[in-house]
Amino acid sequence: MTDDSTTIRAAYYTLGCKLNYAETSAIGKMLAERGVVRARGGETPDICVVNTCSVTEVADKKGRRLIRSLAARWPEATMVVTGCYAQLKPGEVAAIDGVDIVLGSDEKLRMAEYLDAWQRDRTRRVEVTPALDIRTFRPSCERGDRTRYWLKVQDGCDYFCTYCTIPFARGRSRSGRIADLVGMARAAAAEGGKEIVLTGVNVGCFGQDTGETFLDLLKALDGVEGIERYRISSIEPNLLTEEIVRYIAFESRAIMPSFHIPLQSGSDTVLRLMNRRYDTSLFASRIRLIRTLMPDAFIAADIIAGARGETQEEWETSLEFAAGAGLDRLHVFPYSERPGTRALGIDHVVSQEEKHRRVARLSQLSDRLMAARLSAMAGQTRPVLWEHPASPEDTVMHGHTDNYIRVSAPANPALYNTVTPTLLTAPDPDEPETMLGTIILQ
Ligand code: SF4
Repeated sequence: MTDDSTTIRAAYYTLGCKLNYAETSAIGKMLAERGVVRARGGETPDICVVNTCSVTEVADKKGRRLIRSLAARWPEATMVVTGCYAQLKPGEVAAIDGVDIVLGSDEKLRMAEYLDAWQRDRTRRVEVTPALDIRTFRPSCERGDRTRYWLKVQDGCDYFCTYCTIPFARGRSRSGRIADLVGMARAAAAEGGKEIVLTGVNVGCFGQDTGETFLDLLKALDGVEGIERYRISSIEPNLLTEEIVRYIAFESRAIMPSFHIPLQSGSDTVLRLMNRRYDTSLFASRIRLIRTLMPDAFIAADIIAGARGETQEEWETSLEFAAGAGLDRLHVFPYSERPGTRALGIDHVVSQEEKHRRVARLSQLSDRLMAARLSAMAGQTRPVLWEHPASPEDTVMHGHTDNYIRVSAPANPALYNTVTPTLLTAPDPDEPETMLGTIILQ
């Protein structure tokens, strides 16, 4: 399709997690194989693909707002909505003016077939497999940003935390096969990829359905030539076993010492109410082990502020634990009521005002932790993978160290997508959470 008048163009919009971004990218690749080109800025798309999130009420609202604004802007475009919001509330999504096709989590990677059907009969479709019936797993490995690849190794979750709707949106846990995933990592290396982020909903559950293990996956990926770095997007503390931590510390060639571990609350009472699978003592022991074996590892944690059951006393316990746990950064989320969740049966409700106050306290704590980590890094030389900048005119380039510290330095195109030893001199006064770097010439 080279004639401009017959070229079909699609615009892609993604809300939510890295997994959604990886899947949107896979959808784009699938449609590109059918000759659909990506609409560039200013071009009118024939197809709009919106991959939604539903992690909070706010996410649903953002999805609705985005769909409405796209429909108003491009009323002629075929509007396809997929993702967690579409899976959880297909009727609500289908009722938005301008929506033509609604696809659930299991249908999203078959979008090309549904678009073909639309071409034939122009019939609006709502296709959603009930989440708990989803059994298929479609691995994907996509260039997630300008430098990193995202390898989807697992999907769905069996944990059913009381506040979470993800198992109802993405279904039960299922995984890829090590041999297939290694093949995808090799293909990324052949394209010049240096860093791969392992993504999934509950990555540590990898292999529980196939008889393989996450540790075996890490070992196999370590053997892929050309890939210099892997990061685990996030892993539950109870699934980050001592064996995995020791492997990363002592044996692994390329699994980086950066961890993202959900804490959610530093109060055991609240963790029990949330139906989490660990307590603070297990969490603390994991962090201690990492800190003992890899003192400079970067450790971030998710934490929810103002969950149901988080009384003043439990909040103070939680804050104190988070402050003393040895973390470097907190990803703070205000608790969001989700219809249909068991958390709605928990008695103590935190007011909006108090919830915002707790978010602010945790964010301040995170800033302090991060500042301490950055000043501890000053004077160290670490390997940095320099990323392609957003624009070729950029005069500053950015990269990340092995332990996930963001670094800035004057732009040097010869270094993009290469790893170089870099002296971290001081926190960058112009950019938050970033160190100034001086490249050590080899
Ligand atoms: Fe949701 Fe809990 Fe599964 Fe995470 S582990 S996706 S919070 S149910």
